[in-house]
Amino acid sequence: MNPDASHSNAEEIVIRGVAASPGIAIGKALVLKKDGIVVEEKNVDDPAAELERLRKAIERSAHELEKIYGTAREKIGEDKAKIFEAQLLILADPVFFDGVKHKISRNKKNAEFVVSTEFSKQIEQLRRSDNEIFKQRATEIEDAKNRILRNLAEAKLKSRVEGTPIIVTSELTPADAVLLSRSAVLGYVSDFGGARSHASILSRSLGIPAVVGLKEATKHVTDGANLILDGYRGTVVINPSESTLKKFTERKAWCEQLDNELMSEAAEPALTTDGRRVSVEANIELLEELPLMQSHGADGVGLFRTEPLIIDSESIPDETEQTEVFRKAVEGAAPNPVVFRTFDIGGDKVFIGEHSEQNPFLGWRGIRMMLDRPDLMREQLRAILRASASGKCRIMYPMVATADEVIRANELLDEAKKSLDAEGVRYDKEIEVGVMIEIPSAALMSKEISRHVSFLSIGTNDLTQYLLAVDRTNELVANLFEEFHPAVLRTIKFIIDSGHDAGIRVAMCGEMAGNPLATVMLLGLGLDEFSAVSSTLPVLKKIIRGTNYKSARKFARQLLKMESADEVKKALVEYLRTRFERIYHTTISEENLD
Ligand code: PEP
Ligand code: MG
Repeated sequence: MNPDASHSNAEEIVIRGVAASPGIAIGKALVLKKDGIVVEEKNVDDPAAELERLRKAIERSAHELEKIYGTAREKIGEDKAKIFEAQLLILADPVFFDGVKHKISRNKKNAEFVVSTEFSKQIEQLRRSDNEIFKQRATEIEDAKNRILRNLAEAKLKSRVEGTPIIVTSELTPADAVLLSRSAVLGYVSDFGGARSHASILSRSLGIPAVVGLKEATKHVTDGANLILDGYRGTVVINPSESTLKKFTERKAWCEQLDNELMSEAAEPALTTDGRRVSVEANIELLEELPLMQSHGADGVGLFRTEPLIIDSESIPDETEQTEVFRKAVEGAAPNPVVFRTFDIGGDKVFIGEHSEQNPFLGWRGIRMMLDRPDLMREQLRAILRASASGKCRIMYPMVATADEVIRANELLDEAKKSLDAEGVRYDKEIEVGVMIEIPSAALMSKEISRHVSFLSIGTNDLTQYLLAVDRTNELVANLFEEFHPAVLRTIKFIIDSGHDAGIRVAMCGEMAGNPLATVMLLGLGLDEFSAVSSTLPVLKKIIRGTNYKSARKFARQLLKMESADEVKKALVEYLRTRFERIYHTTISEENLD
């Protein structure tokens, strides 16, 4: 890149966000403004004409989306393009639009105003949740709203850009990700969004580096500014100095070489140098993630979160709908197995019915709620069982606190099996059942719990929050949320040993399983299965393949004696830096260790 004279004197700024799609891009910013639509409230004399304008705007919007859907299908395949079908369904929702039309006719207001207020009500409600899936849904609805408003104003869609820019925008929609990829864009940068949003998943599929959730990128970046986007670390450098530019140009070449190497070896088994084979699996929430899991060498799906099936409290999908999704998952992951987790409703996730709890993380959540609603549990278990006729799968219960809950859940499973037997429906009679260990009481009782199941899976996200009494969603205490706390490590060791004493496998599906810094330690503690986001799996496999299991065990014993998280992390950083230098430099950096 040749730094532009008008920007070369500007101060270098580094901002941090979420690494959404790997890769490094060096180029000039193109700021995509989205706040151009100003909606005014107007009275209209002829509501029928207003309804006709709305009809045409919806029709044009649907037409645009059909085109985007077509492009997406062509570029990334039918499965991943499916989300645009979901957006088309929003435009075709008769119940919602009947309400909008009714308000235009009754209140004699302009279509822009009614569309904007009605959509915004839904969007606000979804955004208030801490849940990533709800936020994702809010983005989709917002995209539909903006599309209709733009078409009401008869403004054209900006879908092509000149040159090879890095796109900077407040919120990247799935449609942006696909449409702009037709031009030679180098990367995506956005103020909002998370790593699991549809737009991020699509960016990864399209191979376009992205950093999202930067909060104030659009405030700092001006059109044409020189930018560096680091999609591995989640950082963006605005107006880089010559020396920064040089550093990143080298780093880019390095990372690309390592990436190619990792991907070419992704299908190799996770086997240590002295012959211990572990399983490396994917955490998945959406069917669109399945191809990515396959290309990244996953040995299966270690956690399929089922909450995304619930869009709102009124629409818990019935058994047939759930069976359909589970069947597709099982077929998409074949020949490897899928672990379906029963609904973990509550906490930071979805709620059903009238809901108000002082302390939802300590409340009606996961298996507790499902045991109180055996109708929902039976339905879901029947759906998983029915899908098991199409391929290998397992069942997993979340938020278990006592062995008794497992016994009761297993009784419901037996009932579900008997009812299918009576109907002559086929299912896998040997289907395995497991439990997530994410509550301290379950960790302490893991030996007893192990008697009732075939595997345990450690959920470090919740386990850390409950062990350390640190709300995982509260930014005020985010610095206290520490997976490498010796109390967490010793608890993990206890759970693994308990499972092994009972003769069953122990997995981990919390975020820690995907942290390359933790890999050697978890291996040394005896973990049998790692489950993490697909993009990280080739790195985990590389580390495992370059590690001697006996040495890892010895190292883990030393780590367990340490008294602070800092001490543990320092030792692990040193290990990675000396043994896996390139991985250390691409995925870990001192500045994001805290
Ligand atoms: C966990 O708690 O570690 C986990 C994997 O479950 P979730 O993040 O869905 O609560
Ligand atoms: Mg959990």
